[in-house]
Amino acid sequence: MQKGNLLYEGKAKKVYETDDPALLIVEYKDDATAFNGQKKGTICGKGVINNQMSNRLMQRLARADVPTHFVQELSERETLVKRVEIVPLEVIVRNIAAGSFSKRYGIPEGTSFDAPTVEFSYKNDALGDPLINTTHVLAMRLATAEEIETIERYALRVNALLRDFWADCGVKLVDFKLEFGRLPDGTIILADEISPDTCRLWDSATGEKLDKDRFRRDLGGVEDAYAEIMRRLREHDD
Ligand code: UDP
Repeated sequence: MQKGNLLYEGKAKKVYETDDPALLIVEYKDDATAFNGQKKGTICGKGVINNQMSNRLMQRLARADVPTHFVQELSERETLVKRVEIVPLEVIVRNIAAGSFSKRYGIPEGTSFDAPTVEFSYKNDALGDPLINTTHVLAMRLATAEEIETIERYALRVNALLRDFWADCGVKLVDFKLEFGRLPDGTIILADEISPDTCRLWDSATGEKLDKDRFRRDLGGVEDAYAEIMRRLREHDD
């Protein structure tokens, strides 16, 4: 599959057209940003890890009947995916309080929930991706009621599957962000990526952070954390 025109360049990925209008090529970069682009840096080798991790996790989800955009890994950093129209929502699932949840509600980081939470942010960099509720989503016609229902159902299924998988790897799945897209026939599928950039992953025994919080919070050992989480995944996924 040949890379065509650059369609879009985001903070961590480039997206190219291909000679098939239904397929795109995603290329993962080592660039890292945080706090809505205010903090910038490079995490050496991140693009390779995020590409490979996201592809393995999406294939695992597809085997459990969660439809995804994954088609084929083309190289260390490049993957062929189905072209979708992205639903402009960040779908965040949480098992343990952390990050913006802890800040917003004054709940200490590390507090476990009895049941997972699902929340939406409106994907809009200029507005800083504000929290949004489902009546707002409907009012702004960002998604239909049926699409919201499907997205929530898939998000919780992804959580159950990934929480179990990461537990086997000795890792707690604290929270994560998903994005969904629409195929031309309107089918909702999982898109974007699932990686240490988009998940909080804590070592089950020590609580050590093995995700992008090491970069966001200047904790050091960023590359080592990405390598360690990928090593755990490989060990349990092969
Ligand atoms: N997240 C993400 N992209 C965003 C915002 C959040 O991938 O633009 C992920 C983040 O890595 C974490 C989860 O979503 O795993 C919840 O993030 P939170 O709302 O706590 O925001 P943060 O503290 O990262 O600003």
